[in-house]
Formats: sequence, C-alpha cells, structure tokens
Amino acid sequence: MATLLIAEHDNTNLSDLTARALTAACAMQAPVTLLVAGSNCKAVAEQAARLDGVEKVLVADAPHLAQQAAEPMGALIAELARDFQAVLAVASSTGKSVLPRAAALLDVMQVSEVTRIESPDTFVRPIYAGNAIETIQSSDPIKVITVRSSAFEPAGQGDASAPITAVAVPDDMALSAFERQELAQTDRPDLGSARIVISGGRAFGSKETFDRFLEPIAAKLGAAIGASRAAVDSGYAGNELQVGQTGKVVAPDLYIACGISGAIQHLAGMKDSRYIVAINKDADAPIFQVADYGLVGDLFEILPELESKL
Ligand code: FAD
Repeated sequence: MATLLIAEHDNTNLSDLTARALTAACAMQAPVTLLVAGSNCKAVAEQAARLDGVEKVLVADAPHLAQQAAEPMGALIAELARDFQAVLAVASSTGKSVLPRAAALLDVMQVSEVTRIESPDTFVRPIYAGNAIETIQSSDPIKVITVRSSAFEPAGQGDASAPITAVAVPDDMALSAFERQELAQTDRPDLGSARIVISGGRAFGSKETFDRFLEPIAAKLGAAIGASRAAVDSGYAGNELQVGQTGKVVAPDLYIACGISGAIQHLAGMKDSRYIVAINKDADAPIFQVADYGLVGDLFEILPELESKL
C-alpha cells in the first residue's frame, strides 16, 4: 500500500514545502503517490512528477478545487485514501484545514505536526508548545498525518518524470464558496522556507521603526522578515509574519531575533533554527538561553552597525 502525499501549490507553482513533506512521505517505507488537486494545475503536476521519490502523480482538476477548500478536498482525499496506507500533507494553512476533514470522513485520528517518522505507524511530534516531545503509535488502518516541513530536508529533483494520471473529482457539494483572498505583497523570500530570517519584537516601538531598521538588513541578507506576536499585535508587522506557537514555525539556517524577549510561545516557532543570533539589551532575556550568538546592547545602535558592516 502506497502513501498519498497532498501537494502544496497555488495552481501554477509547486511549493518548496512539498519536497520537504516528500522526504517525510518516503520515510513511510512505501511508494509515494502525489496528489495535485486544484484548477488548471497541469503545470504543477509536471513539476511534481520530477521530484525524486514520487512514483505516481494523480491530478484532480476542477474549478471548485481552485482554492483547495476543506469541504471538496476532504471528500476527494477521503475517497482516494481508501487505497493508501497513509495520507500526508504539510502542516500549512491548507493542510491544517483540509486533513482533519479527510480524517473525520475516514473515521481515523489525525496525527498533527509530525517532526520525525520512526516507522510507518510511529511518529514524533511536539506538544505543549514544544516543551515536550511525544512519540505516538497509531493503530488506525489509514494514517492521516500533517508534517512540519521545517523538520525535513527537501527531496531532490531529477530529469525523470513520474507518470501523471487524472482522477475523477467528486461533485461540488457547494458547502462553502470562495469570497476573496488578500495576499501580502512582498519581494522578500517566503518566511516558511527562507534560509535566513530576521525578526523584530516589541522593542521597535512603531511600524515605521520596525521597517526602517529591519528592511535594509533583510535586503542585504536576502532574508525573510518575521515578528513576535507583541510586534504583530502592536501593528508593527502583518499577521502573516508572526513566528511562534500561534504563528509560523520556521527553522532557517540563521534566525536573528532583535528586541524579542524569548517567550516560550515565540521559541516554539524558531528554536529549531540552525544558528540563532539574539540582540537584546537585557542580558537575562530568555532568548539568550537558545541563542548561539548573543549581543547584549541597544538594537538601535547594533542594527545600523550590522547593516554598515554587511
Ligand atoms: P517583550 O516580551 O515585551 O520583549 C521585548 C524585548 O525587547 C525585551 O526582552 C527587552 O529587553 C528588549 N528590548 C527593549 N528595548 C530594546 C532595545 N532598544 N534594544 C534591544 N532590546 C530591547 N508570541 C510570539 O512571538 N509568537 C506566538 O506565536 C505567540 N503565541 C502565543 C500564544 C498564546 C496562547 C499566548 C498566551 C501568548 C503567545 N505569544 C506569542 C506571546 C508571548 O507570550 C510574548 O508575549 C511575546 O512573544 C512577546 O513579544 P516580544 O518578545 O516582542 O515582547
């Protein structure tokens, strides 16, 4: 029995996160079939077929799948899943919305935010905002799993192309309708997959200051910008930039935390980064407990100096 991996995409481009989830899917010790569900998503299927480790690509193409809403996606996945040992998706907004519905339709328990696959039925995941790590064994006939993409290296891409097959799409149940989408426009790399993230906290005091001090350094480093919840709640940064338990979980090569105290809910979203640099004027700030390099000082002096050195 193969593993079904749900591709993360925007109907045009396959997200890098899919290659990471594929590494997790391959650890399930069974051939991997990738499902590309969307509308006019042929180009995505072709990109998906070139990923190393994909045995087959299924394409479900229908107008009502364009936004990958939970209702039609859940029905589609539940229908297909009966031929698979497991269904995997990235623990993204889409995966978190779609997979619980599929799991409920299949009457199985979802295992969420998996960071390691021990065996086809045993998974490791953080609980209590990352304060404890749970190993969980599932006896469900079909495992339904979301994976933390940051915990897995991306699978490679080759010239070989896996076969692409169209699948029948269940009729639109019209349980939900798409209203509108508001996307933040940015030239910065995507926060979830950036190699470098520079984040700011409450210390910046205003949106203008947040942007003025962080933007030039992010541009020089080719980094994504992140924020603590205090910075987001104060209006210095958009919601989509929040890192932490209720924001995004990131694990870049380099995470620079500026004026962030290191509350446990923030650490839950970044403590697995390869190198952590913290800039804080309080030498006792908890962020220094996870930092590889700590700079104790005023960020309004340190950041311009850092920028000029870069
Ligand atoms: P503060 O804790 O106020 O820290 C500001 C820091 O800046 C201090 O350490 C201070 O020493 C330093 N500083 C001040 N001025 C300067 C200066 N000039 N130079 C250098 N350093 C300076 N938080 C998140 O970030 N992400 C989440 O997802 C999240 N989810 C949450 C979920 C729940 C259920 C709850 C209860 C809380 C959550 N929080 C989350 C909030 C979290 O508890 C903290 O309140 C928040 O992270 C604090 O943000 P901060 O570090 O920017 O602010």
